[in-house]
Amino acid sequence: MSDIFEKYQAVIGLEVHAQLLTKSKAYSSDSAEFGGMPNTNVSVITLGHPGTLPRVNRSVVDSAIKLGLACGCTIRERNEYARKNYFYADLPKGYQITQDTTPICNGGSIRIKLENGETKDIRITRIHMEEDAGKSMHDVDPFDTLVDLNRAGVPLLEIVSEPDIRTAEEAYAYLTEVRKLLRYLEICDGNMEEGSMRCDANISVMLKGAKKFGNRVEVKNMNSIRNVQRAIRFEIERQIQAIEVGESISQDTRSFDALNGTTFVMRSKEMANDYRYFPEPDLPPVIVDKQWIEEIRATMPALPNELHEKFTKDFGLNEYDASVLTDSKPVALYFNELSILTKNYKSASNWVTGDIKSYLNEYAMHMEDFPVKPAAIAELIAIIDDGKISHSAASQKVFPELCAHPTKSPLKIAEEFDLIQESNTDQLEEWVDAALAMYPDKVEEYRAGKKGVLGLFMGEVMKLSKGKADPKLANQLVRQKLEG
Ligand code: ADP
Ligand code: MG
Repeated sequence: MSDIFEKYQAVIGLEVHAQLLTKSKAYSSDSAEFGGMPNTNVSVITLGHPGTLPRVNRSVVDSAIKLGLACGCTIRERNEYARKNYFYADLPKGYQITQDTTPICNGGSIRIKLENGETKDIRITRIHMEEDAGKSMHDVDPFDTLVDLNRAGVPLLEIVSEPDIRTAEEAYAYLTEVRKLLRYLEICDGNMEEGSMRCDANISVMLKGAKKFGNRVEVKNMNSIRNVQRAIRFEIERQIQAIEVGESISQDTRSFDALNGTTFVMRSKEMANDYRYFPEPDLPPVIVDKQWIEEIRATMPALPNELHEKFTKDFGLNEYDASVLTDSKPVALYFNELSILTKNYKSASNWVTGDIKSYLNEYAMHMEDFPVKPAAIAELIAIIDDGKISHSAASQKVFPELCAHPTKSPLKIAEEFDLIQESNTDQLEEWVDAALAMYPDKVEEYRAGKKGVLGLFMGEVMKLSKGKADPKLANQLVRQKLEG
């Protein structure tokens, strides 16, 4: 049974809608804020009353240019708007203003990491600007559907991929990268649970080696990246099983049922909307000239891929560390700042991905709210590297105290807690001599070639010094005395 799946290859293209974090709506000055009282941010422009005129919100165009530059797209100069017409209760105007034949971005790609460690570029077909519809709520009132028009007119970018994705896991990786990029650019919060990032998955299957793609279905209503992956897995199996029993795949729009992990038909092809696109008569084309693009380019933050490359190539960190450090922008920025203040990048990375992340998890805090400045962590790293305190004392005693009193100096804390290691050789020598004197027979064993007893002497030295002996120096001294 399972080997029927081996005969087929899935083909997937994703359409992502990203709700932009602008202050006002796409074509009116209504607030675009999420979470207000229902139907309070709704002017006559949003409602499309006769005689009202939309106006383009330039920061929507800014956001689109940013994303386009980040993906290596070509940015279109002359941007025309179009009306996409359909009737629905949450669409008061009866149309959405969108871009049809002149999307602001074409080409470009998003790089994903595959499980085998290789990378793959998923090509972008287009990115265009449009507006959201209102929100219909079918499950709040037992009898009626409620409509909140606050969302009507909120700006969206739609990012359409080429059908380059081949597995549910690749789709997962792609969406993770898209979300990371949106968050780094600070143009969308990427929250799929709240619907500020949404994804429609187009899925088809064909026999391996076939030239022509199979009929695709479009699946909607997945509220997490994980659910997109589940929906795709289900669809691939469903389509293969259908084809195997001689059925053909009809080009339907399906909805994902998260409870069962299945999909069901929402609209068949025959019921598909005819949107009757035509040029938006109320908006002149927006001209994006070179200067506008360069202005945006100048404000572009470092992108996750660039930082990842810097952390691996320049700092010699491994792939895993670099990925953890660049997963979120605030973490990457914190580490980047830290990397200016210390040259011990591996240790800096360990502090950020280890002690600091655990602290944040424990207190359910975000990196942005972490109270300790990178300079203090750099000092902590320096006093460990100088042999002033041990790493375990730094981690167990100094770090928690530093988190509680972020303005204190790590060295001061170490002194207060009496953690400064003894590197005075006279003092060290006393402890080493005392330790050797305790076990004269073990000294002989060592000299006869049983090097393993070194640990015993080190243990005694640390005990005698109450943990304050600098282990590196003590180790050297113990060897010298044993061998000399
Ligand atoms: P529509 O506007 O009807 O949704 P598009 O041509 O814009 O159609 O395609 C939407 C998405 O479907 C794109 O992401 C594209 O890559 C994907 N797609 C197109 N053909 C296939 C196919 N045969 N299998 C899977 N995905 C496909
Ligand atoms: Mg579509």
